[in-house]
Amino acid sequence: MSDLTADAVATEHPGAGNPAAPGGARTVAAAVPPSLVARLAAGVTATGEPDLVETVAPLTGERLASLPRSTPADVEVAFQLARRAQGAWAALPVRRRAAVLLRFHDLLLKRQDEVLDLIQAETGKARPHAFEEVLAVAMAARHYGRAAHGYLKDKRRGGALPVLTHAVEARRPKGVVGHISPWNYPLELSIGDALPAFVAGNAVVNKPDTQTALTALWARELLVEAGLPADLWQIVIGDGPVIGPAVVEHADYVSFTGSTRTGRDVAQRAAARLVGASLELGGKNAMLVLADADLDAAAAGAVRACFSSAGQLCISIERLLVHRSVADEFLERFAARTRALRLGGGLAYGADMGSLVSVRQLETTTRHVEEAVKAGATVVAGGRARPDLGPFFFEPTILDGVTPDMAVCAEETFGPVVSVYRFDTDEEAVAAANSTPYGLNSSVWTRNPRRGRTVAARLRTGTVNVNEAYAAAYGSVASPMGGMGDSGLGRRHGAEGILRFTEAQTIATQRLLPIAPSFGLDDKQFAAVMTGGLRALKALRFK
Ligand code: NAD
Repeated sequence: MSDLTADAVATEHPGAGNPAAPGGARTVAAAVPPSLVARLAAGVTATGEPDLVETVAPLTGERLASLPRSTPADVEVAFQLARRAQGAWAALPVRRRAAVLLRFHDLLLKRQDEVLDLIQAETGKARPHAFEEVLAVAMAARHYGRAAHGYLKDKRRGGALPVLTHAVEARRPKGVVGHISPWNYPLELSIGDALPAFVAGNAVVNKPDTQTALTALWARELLVEAGLPADLWQIVIGDGPVIGPAVVEHADYVSFTGSTRTGRDVAQRAAARLVGASLELGGKNAMLVLADADLDAAAAGAVRACFSSAGQLCISIERLLVHRSVADEFLERFAARTRALRLGGGLAYGADMGSLVSVRQLETTTRHVEEAVKAGATVVAGGRARPDLGPFFFEPTILDGVTPDMAVCAEETFGPVVSVYRFDTDEEAVAAANSTPYGLNSSVWTRNPRRGRTVAARLRTGTVNVNEAYAAAYGSVASPMGGMGDSGLGRRHGAEGILRFTEAQTIATQRLLPIAPSFGLDDKQFAAVMTGGLRALKALRFK
């Protein structure tokens, strides 16, 4: 980031800025001591000469961990170990595998403080946002722990010929899933997607982002404590463009979460090997405040929608579409709440928003705000970096007067920046919301839930939240979550979230008569009998 950038924006918009949250006595160094790092690092599959990769704690900029770097050869070893363990695991009854998830659920809730510290230390997010990850993972563990048997059990299907053909649809594990995850929700996106893969009978080779590998390694340790055979979950770390393709090269299925750009590359590599892939990618999500919305609730919801994890959330809102008749009033309430957010980096509850994760995120955020302001946008709240709080802090920022020529209008910022736009009709709002190639999440606010659902049905996003920011749809773990358009392929959660890790197998058993001429019928007579039979099946409403 150029200093000019933050200073220029700050000078143009002087003010007290967001208050700092009270600090707290616990330091990152005390919460993540070298002994913990060494213990967790032992879980990385890296066999050769130690080649260390360093991570930094975003809250303070201090050194956090040195971790072994895996090589492509290590990735191969990881797949061999995982493959060897997978057969015995798949042979267990589903309920035995599901019991591991339910024990993990309880352990996670009990030991949450350990992982909240790690998540905060590795990402810089505030503790309530780290807790969201615990919530999401516990919900997924409970859901698949309880519902996996129903999703995976053999299903009797109508056969080719009634009575004569007995058909069953069975689900077989893919084998070893290659799972590549980003840094922004390191607990949820490493283990949340791995849980259904495991309960479906697979092994997993996971490449978390190096910056947040400790959280994934902690989750692995806890799942092993809950009963998962240790070799079943391999963790490899290293440079994305080197280790990521190596994972795709060996996987029987690929589960990827990250940027749309990387997702396209992963999809092409998976396609070349004819293995399936689910891709959870970026977004430029919109929130619609209709004229009849409860403005206080919408303003509070917008704060959650835009600034959770400092906006580094794939389903967070970066475009706020507000009905013109309530726009000024809404904006006043939203801005007041935004300016009051307490920023801080203590390893405790008390701050409303934390830091960005890296200088890269700070640069993008600053560039988007700076360019927009130079081109005529107005900063309604925030608008500047806060180096007084930590190296990557940036204030929660509301922009007004953003036009399509500005990068912030259509590009994903992945930071705490939202632009406000006004509309006059529902049609206009829906068209504006649908005007990006992305289609991940959206949010609609109205006092009339039925109207909210009608508008929701017209939005081209994989999830829509009515009168909530994102947690209602994301937390509805029995229902699928994912992206349309450039936001991805496939879904996590619900039936799709587990069946993607399986191969369907149809076992059909023919009895009494073959599906061929018999009883002395010739081909022509057989065709006539079958033609009559087909007409009868339709008339009898067979499916
Ligand atoms: P990224 O694509 O740069 O990295 C994601 C992961 O892919 C990392 O582990 C990285 O090391 C790895 N990687 C990098 N290059 C690779 C390659 N060539 N082949 C295989 N793997 C490779 O994304 P990021 O910047 O770390 O994450 C932020 C992005 O993720 C944002 O766009 C965000 O919207 C998206 N995201 C989406 C969801 C969702 O559920 N849709 C959830 C979280 C984040």
